Amino acid sequence: GLILGIESSCDETAAAVVRAGSTALSNVVASQMSLHANYGGVVPELASREHLRNIVPVVREALAQAKVALADLDAVAVTEGPGLAGALLVGITYAKALSFGLGKPLVAVNHLEGHIHAVLLEARQRAGVPMELPLLALVVSGGHTHLYLAEQAANDTWTYRNVGRTVDDAAGEAYDKVAKLLGLGYPGGPWIDALAPHGNPRAVPFAFGQIKTRATKAAQAEHSKHSSSQKPGKPAPAFDFSFSGIKTAARRYVETHHMKPGIEYRHAELAANPQIKPQSPEAVQLCNPQTLDLIASFQHAVVGNLLRQTFAAAEAFGARGIIVSGGVAANRELRRRFQAEADRRSLPVAFPSLALSTDNAAMIAAAAWPKFLAGNFAPEDLGATPQLRLGQQ
Ligand code: ATP
Ligand code: MG
Ligand code: FE
Repeated sequence: GLILGIESSCDETAAAVVRAGSTALSNVVASQMSLHANYGGVVPELASREHLRNIVPVVREALAQAKVALADLDAVAVTEGPGLAGALLVGITYAKALSFGLGKPLVAVNHLEGHIHAVLLEARQRAGVPMELPLLALVVSGGHTHLYLAEQAANDTWTYRNVGRTVDDAAGEAYDKVAKLLGLGYPGGPWIDALAPHGNPRAVPFAFGQIKTRATKAAQAEHSKHSSSQKPGKPAPAFDFSFSGIKTAARRYVETHHMKPGIEYRHAELAANPQIKPQSPEAVQLCNPQTLDLIASFQHAVVGNLLRQTFAAAEAFGARGIIVSGGVAANRELRRRFQAEADRRSLPVAFPSLALSTDNAAMIAAAAWPKFLAGNFAPEDLGATPQLRLGQQ
């Protein structure tokens, strides 16, 4: 079973050949990051044009690296959303033409489901990490902080329920905003990750208040199944997150302690000096101890909140394993604390490697595999769905 995956939802043009949803024979990514960096964000028109330019050579390279001819493929898989409409359309149009020309089925994949399967693809290859459904997946990045419960459907495909999400900022967004406030570089995650071990995580008390939760249908259904003793009329909580409060608390702390970057403290030198990397000793030396304490306390609070909600949801839904993906999953404190808590509960936990944590097509081909086996093919007139959601809300 050879599937060619194609991904073009944002600023990466990617193609990969994956065998049986578990072995990546190739994984080619053409990133446009440096192009968009000049504009401080992804420019949709430029992204579409770059995808058009890259799609043919990227697919050709993926086939060449896998030593696979077009005729050997069993299916073509493509990201249908969420993402930029024009960018998605380049991949979809190309995949449809290939599938039609080859007479092979087309499989449509949700990008977020792809991120979950990126972790599974590797976990399956690593012996000793059994990942059995139901699984709880935390997708945590600059644009998402979502909890999904992945379950087996009747035909062996997967179904998803969104059982928690941020009610305001994404966790990565909070990292980026607090880093900016302190005059650190962009993106802020790697800076805070590198500097936090040099501060005292208990120096600044960040409290997470009770979030006003919405009650998801999924949580309610599960709730009524498990707790018949519960008083009626009290909705089961969703496992939601909130990060705007901690961002505001950090700002207030900086203001009341007169921690103006570039004046009393020399943070601005970090942002202005591209030679200084997050991991370099100079970065630590340029930070005041008070700043390091704030950084350490912020990260401790954010990771603690992610940990608490994720494991509470895992317990409530009887998950048999935990998956963490998205840019923030690179965070070392997050990995350490999630691993320790999972070990304590004898639950397997899996994170993506660096190569599969950013957008790629191997994850799209892997996610397509159970759909392919179930004959769950896309219609010939498949279009882009920029706001596509994952699973029942
Ligand atoms: P999405 O993929 O949801 O549309 P995105 O493209 O912003 O959003 P990613 O590229 O997956 O998301 O991740 C980028 C985010 O991850 C940034 O907010 C960045 O600060 C954060 N990040 C990267 N490395 C780390 C780290 N080591 N610790 C914490 N956060 C990190
Ligand atoms: Mg990104
Ligand atoms: Fe992504």
